Amino acid sequence: MSHNEETPRKSGSNPAERFADYVPSIESRDIVSIRSRNGLLIDGAWVDAADGRTFTTVEPATGEALAEIALGGTEDVDRAVAAARHAYDSVWRDMPGAERARYLFRLARLLQDRAREFAVLETIDGGKPIRESRDIDIPLAAAHLFHHAGWADKLDLAVPGMRAAPLGVIGQITPWNFPLLMVAWKIAPALACGNTVVLKPAETTSLTTLLLGELTREAEFPPGVLNIVTGAGDTGAALAAHGGIDKVAFTGSTEVGKSIRRAVAGTPVRLTLELGGKGAHIVCDDAAMDQAIEGVVDGIFFNQGHVCCAGSRLLVQEGIADAFVDRLRDRIGRLRVGDPLDKNTDVGAINSAEQLARIVEHVEGARQEGCEVYQPPCALPERGWFHAPTIVTGVGGSERIAREEVFGPVLTVQTFRTEREAVDRANATRYGLSAGIWTEKGSRILWFANHLRAGVVWANTFNKFDPASPFGGVRESGFGREGGRQGLQEYLTLAPVR
Ligand code: NAP
Ligand code: MG
Repeated sequence: MSHNEETPRKSGSNPAERFADYVPSIESRDIVSIRSRNGLLIDGAWVDAADGRTFTTVEPATGEALAEIALGGTEDVDRAVAAARHAYDSVWRDMPGAERARYLFRLARLLQDRAREFAVLETIDGGKPIRESRDIDIPLAAAHLFHHAGWADKLDLAVPGMRAAPLGVIGQITPWNFPLLMVAWKIAPALACGNTVVLKPAETTSLTTLLLGELTREAEFPPGVLNIVTGAGDTGAALAAHGGIDKVAFTGSTEVGKSIRRAVAGTPVRLTLELGGKGAHIVCDDAAMDQAIEGVVDGIFFNQGHVCCAGSRLLVQEGIADAFVDRLRDRIGRLRVGDPLDKNTDVGAINSAEQLARIVEHVEGARQEGCEVYQPPCALPERGWFHAPTIVTGVGGSERIAREEVFGPVLTVQTFRTEREAVDRANATRYGLSAGIWTEKGSRILWFANHLRAGVVWANTFNKFDPASPFGGVRESGFGREGGRQGLQEYLTLAPVR
């Protein structure tokens, strides 16, 4: 557990201090009932792993066990792929698109109906603030299902002049930072296009995926259309290397992405990879200051920095750098770190002890490399895994903290003089997922957008997502897109209309 060693914040007569005294508003957990044992979803039924193995999922805010989950092995992956193949051949591929759409619309509506339950469960299992699961993860997941349901009967219109057909059985592997949302990004286009799916969610955050699996049963999906094989990294590796699938769609770390790329090399299996990032904010001297401060704060402290497209590097123009960093320090002193179920919480729990250790190691490494580390005085909860929002200054660019993905609430700061210098610094990474530009000048925005090597560039905003808009990376952030027509095409074969 990482505790900030500065003095805990106390109430006082100063308005800023009084602001810190707020009445907790804890979302009730009564709405969720977590089953103590959870099986795999194979061919429409909940089953134990063939060898009976299980693993435990824990609550990051307390460190306590929540449930036992089946640990899928190769035999289970075999069974799931066989079920998906059978469902593909016998029902899903040839079902009229309008009918497939009905299943997806039903699933989206059921998710909306039970949105609060999903939000609370996501927060309990993953540690993210309830405000985010409630306002971002779950509504966006439903939006992805609705959007793609609408495509199911219009696939021949996706690319003019081309007839579209599904690929077959898709193996999908998702990470823990946006558990249900990443699942929705994956299954919605795959199923809408007429493919069937074997899904492997992240080990620490399987519960909302399993609940969504239960909703596919309530929505009476044909058995085998969506199969869920929970488990560890080996389960994912078995799925990715399985000879019976037609495509792997993976979201996760660059390291695992590379191993999957090796596993499918030389086979006809299609692959899309959504990997890590080291996003830069470029704040120019003419930027709207309040807006930029909020954007930068949101871009890295949102979801504890467990965001692939997080703006983890601030590049600020020299003339405003000192004032900007002062204001940032002040602003992060007002972030509320603590119980993720408290509706006032800005920064929740770190997803796992391992992830917290990784973040602490990165920050310690930055100190050792001579950087200056700032953390506002704030008392972290006594139990669970928490990390104070952190700003690292005195960064040259060659330090590990400036180059590697931290995946935590840690922002590095560098300055620049000219636009060219800003772009060179922003591009000085092996990643290429996201970037943010803050300036009032339109021509500057266009110039930056053309010169930044990133899949997504936001201007005067950050972390905005929409199912109609493609998302994905370049370089070591992966390839392939999710969302929009581009994302849809990743799940189709296209042939010219004769
Ligand atoms: P991870 O360790 O790569 O795991 C991702 C998924 O792959 C998990 O389900 C994991 O299972 C599984 N896995 C682990 N080893 C595997 C192997 N050898 N073969 C196949 N699957 C394997 O990543 P993470 O720590 O969960 O997620 C954080 C990373 O995801 C960050 O780097 C972040 O940037 C990236 N991310 C990218 C995007 C994007 O759209 N570009 C979006 C979200 C996250 P276990 O959970 O059991 O280990
Ligand atoms: Mg958990």
